[in-house]
Amino acid sequence: MEKLKNYINGILTTPYNGNYINNYNPATGEVFTMIPDSDKDDADLAVQSATKAFEKWSNASSEYRSEFLLKIAGFISKNLDKFAEAETTDNGKPLWLSKSVDIPRAIKNFEFFAYAVTQFSSESHMTGNEALNYTLRQPVGIVGAISPWNLPLYLFTWKIAPALAAGNCVVAKPSEITPLTAYMLSELCIEAGLPEGVLNIIHGYGHKAGSSIVTHPGIKAITFTGGTKTGSEIAKAAAPDFKKLSLELGGKNPNIIFADCNYEEMLNTTVQSSFRNQGEICLCGSRIFVEKTVYEKFKKDFVKKVKELKVGDPLNETSDLGAIVSRQHFDKILSYVNLAVSEGGKILCGGKSIKLPGRCSNGWFIEPTVIEGLAFDCRTNAEEIFGPVVTITPFESEEEVMMMANSTEYGLASILWTENLTRAHRISSKIKTGIVWVNCWMIRDLRTPFGGMKNSGVGREGGLEALRFFTEPKNVCIKLQD
Ligand code: NAD
Repeated sequence: MEKLKNYINGILTTPYNGNYINNYNPATGEVFTMIPDSDKDDADLAVQSATKAFEKWSNASSEYRSEFLLKIAGFISKNLDKFAEAETTDNGKPLWLSKSVDIPRAIKNFEFFAYAVTQFSSESHMTGNEALNYTLRQPVGIVGAISPWNLPLYLFTWKIAPALAAGNCVVAKPSEITPLTAYMLSELCIEAGLPEGVLNIIHGYGHKAGSSIVTHPGIKAITFTGGTKTGSEIAKAAAPDFKKLSLELGGKNPNIIFADCNYEEMLNTTVQSSFRNQGEICLCGSRIFVEKTVYEKFKKDFVKKVKELKVGDPLNETSDLGAIVSRQHFDKILSYVNLAVSEGGKILCGGKSIKLPGRCSNGWFIEPTVIEGLAFDCRTNAEEIFGPVVTITPFESEEEVMMMANSTEYGLASILWTENLTRAHRISSKIKTGIVWVNCWMIRDLRTPFGGMKNSGVGREGGLEALRFFTEPKNVCIKLQD
């Protein structure tokens, strides 16, 4: 059984305590690798090595750093198929999705921030004729980056690339559930000759390895993507040292459909926004609100299309949905289906686990599930399920749907379908989410601010927002001569 290693001080190392965690292939239910069960000792070594590397890396020109990022991007590109297969084996998502979205996007993250940092500038302010102020943007220091399992390399690199580009050194931890592509990235960083200590990757559980990063006094900023509860624990742990925080957390996104929308486009996209990546994307629209006049038609057409989706072996090109990432998550999703029924919901399609034949017979698969008849504020409609489960709810007026859409503790993203431009602007301005998609879903421009309101997060990532987060603004005020 292959044992993955930590990447500390430019080399691959075994965990200090010698302990390992099983890593499962969700499509087969089998252990296929083991990962370091790192703890405080490994985090200490990683922070030490990052601290040693910091002065040289932070003082290097942005072009110098940028070249390394581009080199890493190129190396991932050359190994795209290998990375995609690893991502699919680790996460359960269809291989076509890893190949067309996850890995290309990880490459883009490195490329984007490699170029963005060379265009990054700061401000200056004249105070009448008396003084000139200019703002220096200096790297924060050693940054902790912690990422989830749903878009493993994609979100890992979304944090690492801007942090490194801005001149920080990084101690990063991927999810213990999907560590493989982060490990492969460490191998490529060695091949690319990235100076030792600039990036360190330790593997392990959140409560051990993760919290050792978060509480380490040498870590000055933390970029975290994951669940809201974990985000709250991290915020508490980081508070005594006043660490800079960027938290990208959970969601329960509304998908609002008005009768005047482009119906065919809405229908096709809504199937995607509900079930892409088994519904395990923080941006999926899990609460679908449909204007009453088209509710019955939508219900019939949507359920028909959802029934056509194929759940299958992730390696199979024809599988629309693959496996659910872990046994624990599989149980959680099914428990929510039971909860929905106990809350009075009617299952229109799906609702059950699937036993596939052959190599996937012990894998964790769930049918895409559509539920109606629930109160807009019941638990099923308020709590994040993060799986292939959506609810549909009719509404009569814009006021009513806005009230329902804004009713949860979350505020990550929303989707709006209407051909009425005035209404689109009005709702976009009033809805309490950090991201609004009008007549589309998942169009991503890496320059735009990304993040959530309310309990979906603190701060924004992406583009200049990320480069600002990973730098410390320092104002220099110079009195001008008379
Ligand atoms: P999670 O919060 O359980 O874990 C995320 C990461 O945090 C993992 O690496 C984990 O090991 C680590 N961790 C756990 N406890 C920790 C602690 N006490 N200290 C430090 N690190 C700790 O989340 P998950 O189950 O991996 O991911 C699913 C969640 O992520 C969903 O809620 C989803 O909405 C959210 N998510 C949000 C976004 C976004 O951009 N807002 C994107 C993707 C996923």
